[in-house]
Amino acid sequence: MRRLGGFGFPGADATRDMLRADVAGIDVPNRRFERLEGGLAVAARRPDGVTRVMVHEFGARPRGAQPGFADVADTWKRVTGEDISAGTPLWVNSFGDASRQAGRYRDHRLFLAGDAAHQQMPIGGQALNLGLQDAVNLGWKLAAQVQRRGPDGLLDSYHGERHAVGQRVLNNIRAQALLLLGSAEVEPVRQVFAELAAGSENVRAHLAGMISGLDIRYDVGPGRHPLLGRRLPHADITTTESTTTSTSLLRSGRGVLLLLPGDDARREELRTLAAPWADLVHTVTATSVSEGLAAPDTGALLVRPDGHVVWADTDGTDLATALNRWFKEPPRATGVPAAAPFTAPVTAPVTAPAPAKKNRRTHMNRLTGKTALVTGSSRGMGRAAALRLAQEGALVAVHYTANREAADDVVTLIEKDGGRAFTVRAELGVPGDVHELFLGLESGLRERTGTTGLDILVNNAGVMGGVKPEDTTPEKFDQLFAVNAKAPFFLIQRALKNMPDGGRIINITSGLTRFANPDEIAYAMTKGAVDQLALHFAKYLGPRNITINSVAPGITRNDNPVFGIPEAVEQMAQLSAFNRIGEPEDVADVVAFLATDEARWITGSFVDATGGTLLG
Ligand code: NAP
Repeated sequence: MRRLGGFGFPGADATRDMLRADVAGIDVPNRRFERLEGGLAVAARRPDGVTRVMVHEFGARPRGAQPGFADVADTWKRVTGEDISAGTPLWVNSFGDASRQAGRYRDHRLFLAGDAAHQQMPIGGQALNLGLQDAVNLGWKLAAQVQRRGPDGLLDSYHGERHAVGQRVLNNIRAQALLLLGSAEVEPVRQVFAELAAGSENVRAHLAGMISGLDIRYDVGPGRHPLLGRRLPHADITTTESTTTSTSLLRSGRGVLLLLPGDDARREELRTLAAPWADLVHTVTATSVSEGLAAPDTGALLVRPDGHVVWADTDGTDLATALNRWFKEPPRATGVPAAAPFTAPVTAPVTAPAPAKKNRRTHMNRLTGKTALVTGSSRGMGRAAALRLAQEGALVAVHYTANREAADDVVTLIEKDGGRAFTVRAELGVPGDVHELFLGLESGLRERTGTTGLDILVNNAGVMGGVKPEDTTPEKFDQLFAVNAKAPFFLIQRALKNMPDGGRIINITSGLTRFANPDEIAYAMTKGAVDQLALHFAKYLGPRNITINSVAPGITRNDNPVFGIPEAVEQMAQLSAFNRIGEPEDVADVVAFLATDEARWITGSFVDATGGTLLG
């Protein structure tokens, strides 16, 4: 977007980097950002035995390409003296201290936010906060604009406010990178910093405010009140309606006029004044407030939806001017009700139901509240299964390996239909595959549900062989087994840590385990192995009420060009009792059924979804 929009992105390339790897099978002492003579080392062993190591060698330049594990092990050896080369790397990468910022955050209808607007070293957790706060700052302003309630200049204030904050955070990150990754020459500065921080509460508060972003003060208009432009402090508030906190008051996405305990006549006057803005600004009358807001001269505050105070009564400035500046003039009383804040624009059709909604109603939301992972769901049957599970209400992780665009499209389709989904990338059949997949899966689940619980696992990803017996090399054989059979086993093993009782595992096998095709012997062997998973795991998982079953498709349409040749399709169709080839949805419906509570009594079974191909 930034490149297409022609935004300049000035700044500096990386001059230092940290190498990072998750390694199994090593035993090194835990280290928290330990400065050694030759560099900086971090090691943290997790309960599953995997150790994350991070290392920087003083004076080393970034290598340009992503490192291999040998680079990490060599650097680790030089910095710590320890040999980790015998470990198994599950994940390797590096990050540098490049520092760049777009010169402007807005160009007409294009806006940059988060990492599109700035690039920085991911240390200190500041970039995450910076990106989120960009989004919060822009979000309510865009919503106001969409509602045609955005006052002139409101959208421009996004660049004005956030660009300056970005500049300061990038500066702070560069200072931290220098203190963290600088060699012996930064020691004197580190010592001065340590003395300052240890000896002065003011220094500590300053650094904490800077790093947390809590000290941000926007230029929001005239006045001298200490809270003007700052975030509303966190405080307990008892109102005429409930006991709450200052931050909870912001959850509606509206502005807040907070009338603090004091002069009742004045409070009534302000309430009446703000009444025409009632749909955009929630007036709250506090009967008591805790420390933080209890300053005697605070009176009343006007707070924007992003939590920043834009007006204080004790400044003696006009409330109506502040309301007009941030929330536009109130709608005239024409008899037509104003658009509700932050809902669909008034031009949106309200009577005709969206087709997607209609679609959803044909299903029964039998999986609402459940989470699902469908491997290989960027295309084919996996895609159809992901769409189907989402229609039933599940939050779906759409897994892929190469075809990111296709996976994104699946998520977009699901979201258009009112469902929830996110993508997860991992190549299966290579060392560290399960680990990488679960890193993405757990972070996606945690972000959306607050937990990493996984209710449904569909082992669908697979590769076909298409080689004659005499042409099957040991490498091809190993690859087929690694993707089709080994990966599902270890995915199940890992998923069981996240799966609650009553979970569901569905493995896609193949009709080729029951009828012959000499070009697919090795492939059929892998699927025969997958069939065994249902049988034996079913017994093992019965006590946890987890079911596991095999679904065996017959010839089913996918992206293979053969499905574009009518004669070939006709010939393949004759194998089915219904005289047609399978569609991905035919199989997806079976998968969805097995995932529901209605299939609770089916486990360890082989479900023939070949459209009667196995009838002979
Ligand atoms: P497909 O259209 O070929 O799609 C394969 C999916 O698996 C894609 O999402 C692909 O991701 C992913 N994938 C492939 N190799 C991977 C790897 N090494 N690591 C991670 N992901 C990988 O699949 P399909 O034809 O619908 O088949 C789905 C399942 O049904 C497979 O297990 C297959 O063996 C089985 N099956 C198929 C048929 C049939 O006629 N189609 C018949 C019987 C059984 P990218 O998009 O990123 O490449």
